[in-house]
Amino acid sequence: MGFGRGFRIKVLQTVSFLKTMRICLITDTALKQGDEILQGFTGHSLQQESSIGKAFLYEVDYMAVLVEDEGKAVSTLKRIKSDLNLFLKPLLVLGYKNLEAYKSLSDEQILLPVKASEISNKLDSLNSIAEKFQDFNNNLEDLNEDQQKDICVLRYLSSRDEDFLSPERNTRSKVGYTYPLLRSLYDVAMGEEIDRLEILEETGLIRGSPIDNIHTCPECGLYNINFREVCPDCQSIKINQENTLHHFRCAYVGKEKDFASDHKLICPKCLKRLNHIGVDYDRPTENFWCDSCGLNFSEPQVSCFCLNCTNIFISEEAVHKSIKEYKITRNGYRAAKEGFLTESGWVGVFRKELNLYRYEVFEEILKLEINRCTRYKSHSTLIHFSLRKLETEKTANQLSDYKSLRHDLIRIFQDTFRNTDIATDVSPTDNLVVLTHTDQGSANRAMERLNEKLNLSFKGTIICLFALQELSVFEGDHHLLLNQLQARLDEKLVVEEKVEG
Ligand SMILES: [Zn+2]
Ligand SMILES: [Zn+2]
Ligand SMILES: [Zn+2]
Repeated sequence: MGFGRGFRIKVLQTVSFLKTMRICLITDTALKQGDEILQGFTGHSLQQESSIGKAFLYEVDYMAVLVEDEGKAVSTLKRIKSDLNLFLKPLLVLGYKNLEAYKSLSDEQILLPVKASEISNKLDSLNSIAEKFQDFNNNLEDLNEDQQKDICVLRYLSSRDEDFLSPERNTRSKVGYTYPLLRSLYDVAMGEEIDRLEILEETGLIRGSPIDNIHTCPECGLYNINFREVCPDCQSIKINQENTLHHFRCAYVGKEKDFASDHKLICPKCLKRLNHIGVDYDRPTENFWCDSCGLNFSEPQVSCFCLNCTNIFISEEAVHKSIKEYKITRNGYRAAKEGFLTESGWVGVFRKELNLYRYEVFEEILKLEINRCTRYKSHSTLIHFSLRKLETEKTANQLSDYKSLRHDLIRIFQDTFRNTDIATDVSPTDNLVVLTHTDQGSANRAMERLNEKLNLSFKGTIICLFALQELSVFEGDHHLLLNQLQARLDEKLVVEEKVEG
């Protein structure tokens, strides 16, 4: 009876899901016993409340919101998602009208009326979210509030792991998009939650995939830019495209309408008649005319006008920004589980700004560079450096200061390395870089200057330890070279830790 056995197992699995859950239903009109909705919650402990103000809510397993007044429902959802203790709770929305608007802020929606069984089915799927919470180490006391929110976002994504965090179009956002869920949590102006997501992506905790590219004003950061064609000389917007003639004989170039005279073409400069195109005259490609300065040109310039702050700039100066949908990474899962944000972040900075090579590619280039330098006696130097953040009170809030910190770091590293240098990352703190056409002495001085700048900007809280070797005078292959540098760096780290201790 193979079939029978299989069937029994299935039943057992279903039974294991029938746990009694504490559910709070937010509703203005308390539902009476016998109500179809209430029957859907049978088997669970249901409490009805008219608002979310009460402390016991932190203890419930699920939240449900019955939409009676749309405005009130939205604000209830926003309040739930702005509370660190409620943010993660599986959330069900029930209502009689289109529930599209609640999708991004809730896990399941039920369009009423439905049979009680459908409600209990949805509760089962909420259960699979709640089950993942068991993995989380709940001690977040060492983190500041922003970091706790970051962990909440990671936990949200890891408990709803098939979900992307997707942006919604919204013209009231400074970048034209918003992530409603995060905006409520971080409590920022619409669109600013994206800054936070970018930091999480740079630290490798989430990964984004672009869904749109936008341009923003370099002055105020808003996306409301009017792109318009202007005169390349005086930037006037009063430009027109007109049929244009070039009279060979006297070299006059002018608008066709100025040549026209009783169905003939007479040159307004020399007053000769134009008969044959290609013989007497032609039509130049410069057929734009500026009404303001009279310039005749072929391609108008594209100018940007910020409709918010009236800044005028050329299109190359517009700031490009990718709007992405995000998914959690393996590191993100780990951070969610352990409630711990990695120190890193450095590597993300470099990968984006310094064009890091993949390690395998770097290794190949290094091999070639060693050969080249040995054969032609050219000077290139390999540096293994490790960026260390010394733990002080000032640096404890690393992720929140990260934005300004990151800006300074990038500047310092861009000052130090040229784009002909070849770099890769070997760990969240360690990088390898080949300074081409640089001997050991110059490379050493460059790194010392880098440390001086770090010291100036970060008052000794960030230091860069390094070991370096000029390639042409090294005897051995790249494996040996890399191992030796690693060993020399390790020695320095030991010394540094002793000093710190
Ligand atoms: Zn602007
Ligand atoms: Zn002009
Ligand atoms: Zn002429």
